[in-house]
Amino acid sequence: MAVTIYAYSLSEAQLLELDDESAISLLRRFNVTERFIKRFFAFLAHAIFNVPIEELSACAMLRFHKVLTGTSLMKIGFANCGLGDLYTPAEGVLKDLGVTVRLRTKAVSLLGSERQCDGVELESGEVLRPRVGVVMTLPAFTMDTLLRKEWLASPSILAATQLKPCAYIAVYFWFDKKLTDKDFWARTFSEDSLTCDWYDFSNIYAGWEGKPSFIGVNLIDTNSRSVGKLTDEEVLDGCFKELCEYLPGAREAKILHTQVTRVPCAIHRPVVGTERARLPPGRSDFVKGLFFAGDWTATELPYCMESAANAGLFAQRVFWKQRLLRVLRRRDLLGCVSQSQAST
Ligand SMILES: Cc1cc2nc3c(=O)[nH]c(=O)nc-3n(C[C@H](O)[C@H](O)[C@H](O)COP(=O)(O)OP(=O)(O)OC[C@H]3O[C@@H](n4cnc5c(N)ncnc54)[C@H](O)[C@@H]3O)c2cc1C
Repeated sequence: MAVTIYAYSLSEAQLLELDDESAISLLRRFNVTERFIKRFFAFLAHAIFNVPIEELSACAMLRFHKVLTGTSLMKIGFANCGLGDLYTPAEGVLKDLGVTVRLRTKAVSLLGSERQCDGVELESGEVLRPRVGVVMTLPAFTMDTLLRKEWLASPSILAATQLKPCAYIAVYFWFDKKLTDKDFWARTFSEDSLTCDWYDFSNIYAGWEGKPSFIGVNLIDTNSRSVGKLTDEEVLDGCFKELCEYLPGAREAKILHTQVTRVPCAIHRPVVGTERARLPPGRSDFVKGLFFAGDWTATELPYCMESAANAGLFAQRVFWKQRLLRVLRRRDLLGCVSQSQAST
């Protein structure tokens, strides 16, 4: 309770001051019992923040704790498709707006001068020149290879490039029969186990109700844990054993197909000192023509899809404001706007 009251008493600036402390140290300062730390906060650290509570930034944890306890209604929503397919409707919307969408196109560097970004070079050698600017939405840890070295003279840009990726191993089992009617469930996480939250997509996707179980789980933060060294076969065996704790009937079912996918960066690791390294979404104040978006920007949310969407929304607002100002300036209308604003 004391931690919750404390969290609510803090402004965003005060929360950021806690970024140098680990979540576990803060909880112990407030005499939270070891049992509650293990049962609740360590689980939260792993499932939401994807890092051990000993490494998690106290700032990140308290900020989310405010959101979690500040809602009177809990609803858990699932995408009605794979995460990758969520993009599909956006492609049509963008094309209808006249945007050229290029898939499987790798950017190799951003072009410009000491304090200016004015282009992107693609792997093919082609150079794209923007009218207003370049929005960097790639994972922060990949940026140092793309940004010009002079731009890393900005301590805040340099700090963002030093965020570390959190790797996942995504595991899927296709069974020949329905094993549960639950859409998801979770095991209490411990460091020596592989898995935490499980999903049966046959109970999630619309129209799949009658289909046999299609079950998936993510092994989290695998580059920092010994599970990351397991072979695909060992991963499948270990996951299957943990699945059978909840669904013993799986032993009698036939596994039709399995898949193990290694994801190098699901999110960045929100460890001590990293909340302050998140750059504000929108225009860079150091490099003209450079914008930042992506879940790792300073959206006051954990790294997640909502954070990525908010960052995009914020960046485009800044972008359009800048364009509007430019048009008004060119037409010498800026004074009229200021006067009309003053009279309203
Ligand atoms: C298996 C899994 C499960 C997840 N589950 C959830 C969940 O349930 N809820 C949730 O909120 N979040 C979840 N996440 C996290 C979520 O996917 C991320 O927070 C979100 O995708 C971040 O969006 P983004 O646009 O910032 O970055 P990304 O989605 O990572 O987009 C960055 C893009 O840049 C591209 N790219 C990288 N380098 C280059 C280059 N040189 N040139 C061109 N393109 C490049 C990448 O291919 C990628 O498409 C999950 C992630 C994974 C992997």
